[in-house]
Amino acid sequence: MRQRIAVVGGGPAGLAFARVLHRHGFPTAVLERDPAPDTRPQGGTLDLHEGLGQLALDKAGLLAEFQALSRPEGQAMRILDTDGTVLRDWRPRPDDRANPEIDRGQLRDLLLGELEVRWGQAVTQVVPGTGDGVLVRFADGRQEAFDLVVGADGAWSRVRPAVSPVTPQYTGVTLVETSLNDVDTHHPDLARLVGDGSVAVYGVNRALVAQRNSGGHVKVYAQFRAPLDWHTHLDPADAGALRANLLALFDGWAAPVLDLLRHSTAFVHRPLYVLPVSHTWAHVPGVTLLGDAAHLMPPLGAGANLAMLEGAELAEAVATGPGDPDQAVRAFEERMWARARRWAEITTAGLERLVSPDPAEALALFDRVQPS
Ligand SMILES: Cc1cc2nc3c(=O)[nH]c(=O)nc-3n(C[C@H](O)[C@H](O)[C@H](O)COP(=O)(O)OP(=O)(O)OC[C@H]3O[C@@H](n4cnc5c(N)ncnc54)[C@H](O)[C@@H]3O)c2cc1C
Repeated sequence: MRQRIAVVGGGPAGLAFARVLHRHGFPTAVLERDPAPDTRPQGGTLDLHEGLGQLALDKAGLLAEFQALSRPEGQAMRILDTDGTVLRDWRPRPDDRANPEIDRGQLRDLLLGELEVRWGQAVTQVVPGTGDGVLVRFADGRQEAFDLVVGADGAWSRVRPAVSPVTPQYTGVTLVETSLNDVDTHHPDLARLVGDGSVAVYGVNRALVAQRNSGGHVKVYAQFRAPLDWHTHLDPADAGALRANLLALFDGWAAPVLDLLRHSTAFVHRPLYVLPVSHTWAHVPGVTLLGDAAHLMPPLGAGANLAMLEGAELAEAVATGPGDPDQAVRAFEERMWARARRWAEITTAGLERLVSPDPAEALALFDRVQPS
């Protein structure tokens, strides 16, 4: 008899899992909390690495479509001093396809394709080990049984408690996301500052990063060390007050850099949380985790890549593995934990250096990882 398989969450991990299983002829129930695909903006741009996110897309048969949509020129990276001096200006070779950028919305549409997602299905709890397999409970009071439930429901996973008591902890770094529209027309100076890819400015315990998305859209990320409650005195609906607070935090930085904050709209507050670097759990038959649900780490270009590759690899293991599917899941978990641990170490150390008391640390890190 065919396994009843569900994946909770239609993000990069869940969709890559469902898409690769679909390619192998296995139906999967994709249970997504959002009521519809266009309920909320999907966020900024993602760089997909050759051996990670791109490998997942290859396993899903979507690499050629990705290459047509993605922006290799988006790999360009400029680093400025807080006084606006250009310290580094790195551009990829025209044939460089190592880490091209793609808008999250475009990636989601690519992964969705013809997949049938069950929208508006907020999972509240997963109960393994019942007589009829693993029970999934929903916010509207319904419940449904499956043989395998994959938790791909992100940082605040409702599936995670079925395998692990661990919860995310605040890193001490907060990120405020904001954006500029149609920069080439409305803010040509800022368009030049950001270039085809990203511009990053590192100060003492602060960083400002702006990234070009498609269609002249730019996402700006203000990052700083602060207590979790730094903003509780502010009205979240009062963009002017938030902007004034941010400008005060970055006081003294070059005017063109601060213009990124002065001209942007819609501020989203994102305190950065992480799971412990070596988060693992005792295997629970019928339940596993992928992506941020398994190994939330600082957002330094790895999370979505790992999430997608894990989704694709678990799908292949379930679809093609010999014998007991639970053995395949168990073996997959061991591989996932080892790889995620390496990336969690890298990104945790990276965050320490990028939002650091000594801005020279950030430059040294860039010089180490970026080919000259
Ligand atoms: C500012 C920022 C920039 C980043 N940049 C990059 C980058 O350049 N490269 C990179 O690789 N990574 C990047 N990341 C990290 C990346 O976004 C995450 O690691 C990735 O999205 C994780 O994918 P996921 O599928 O595991 O979880 P998510 O993307 O969080 O998806 C989870 C899905 O589950 C759904 N869901 C949640 N709860 C429930 C529930 N109870 N029931 C049903 N559905 C539910 C959600 O609606 C969502 O659709 C960045 C992160 C941030 C914050």
